[in-house]
Amino acid sequence: MKHAALVTGASRGIGRAIAAELSAEGWPVCVNYLEHQAEAEELVRRLRAQGREAVAIRADVADRQAVEAMARAAAAELGPIGLLVNNAGISRQGLFQDTDDAAWDRILAVNLTGARNAIQAVLPHMLSEKSGCIVNISSIWGLRGASCEVAYACSKAAVVGLTRSLALELAPSGIRVNCVAPGCIETDMVRVLGPETRAMLVEETPLGRLGTPEDIAHAVAFFASEKAAFLTGQVLTADGGFIV
Ligand code: NAP
Repeated sequence: MKHAALVTGASRGIGRAIAAELSAEGWPVCVNYLEHQAEAEELVRRLRAQGREAVAIRADVADRQAVEAMARAAAAELGPIGLLVNNAGISRQGLFQDTDDAAWDRILAVNLTGARNAIQAVLPHMLSEKSGCIVNISSIWGLRGASCEVAYACSKAAVVGLTRSLALELAPSGIRVNCVAPGCIETDMVRVLGPETRAMLVEETPLGRLGTPEDIAHAVAFFASEKAAFLTGQVLTADGGFIV
């Protein structure tokens, strides 16, 4: 049976590169987005023009019902979801003491509960097939900790816990669960920090540059491939040596 890939937060940045790379690898892809509809639809048009199957579907990953509806619509259009990439994420800078309930709850709702929602939406089919692949996007800040991004770092550390725990629970069902922890990647999320912070991050990265969204897409495509058939519960840090 033909299987499709669902990439959350694929309208921009890392998710967009992941969707394009998986499509090039032959996966029909669902390009999930929240606000940037035009960007998501433009990507889908480009992929279709290359003869590939793709669909753009809006859903807030924090909204369980919307995610379930998206998974159903994607499966109806492209075939059952055999690969899920939990990429959608948000970050905010600020002192921990100033982090109010709304900011704290939203970061956890998108970055952690969003992954939970998407996994639970696609899992019934994977369990019945006894196969499937889930790749979660964490962050080096979830491994190392991050001043002034405590909620974000907590959510990304939790994604590592989610990955390892689910890998153990789902291995007997033939479902692999892995995680990519990007370093500093050239996307809007880093651009908003301004040129000085950007230059500092380049300086702190041993390979001397920010990563590209494609650098992360390659790591995700590896986990999704048969070459990673014996890998589960792993965290692959793709950071140019930042936290070595
Ligand atoms: P980005 O450029 O800000 O893009 C974020 C993407 O997530 C957009 O496509 C956005 O969709 C989507 N999104 C945000 N909230 C969503 C929601 N509630 N529901 C559905 N989609 C949502 O970020 P990025 O840098 O590509 O980051 C992608 C992932 O990598 C995130 O999980 C991030 O934490 C992680 N990461 C990034 C870096 C980095 O240096 N950039 C480092 C480590 C980890 P719309 O635009 O359509 O709203």
